Amino acid sequence: MGKYNEFMQGRYGFDKLGGALIIVSVIVSVVGRLLWLRWTGLICIVLDLIFLYRFLSRKEYARSRENRIFIEFFENVKEFFSRDRKNYNYYTCPVCKTKFRVPKNRTQGYTAKRVCPKCKNEW
Ligand SMILES: [Zn+2]
Repeated sequence: MGKYNEFMQGRYGFDKLGGALIIVSVIVSVVGRLLWLRWTGLICIVLDLIFLYRFLSRKEYARSRENRIFIEFFENVKEFFSRDRKNYNYYTCPVCKTKFRVPKNRTQGYTAKRVCPKCKNEW
């Protein structure tokens, strides 16, 4: 274990993006085997290499930045699929980028203006 700690000294290691890369790699490999696809092996190797590169990287700032971008993207995807489009309209404020929703019955009619709940920007 001492050797391992010594080796990992100053290296980035595991994070959420790393976990996602491994999970996707395993899924691709299983699907590839089930469907008898040849090219999925290559995707797995590429994903594993990216994981390994990030795991052993000494550039902690760059790696944690990638991880942040990934988490933000993942949250956006999750949010997008959990939207209640039947009852709400979804907007992003062009000034402060705040995301908010407005019940549909309130945006119908002549008042088509949207007001950002955070910075009160109207557009
Ligand atoms: Zn705003």
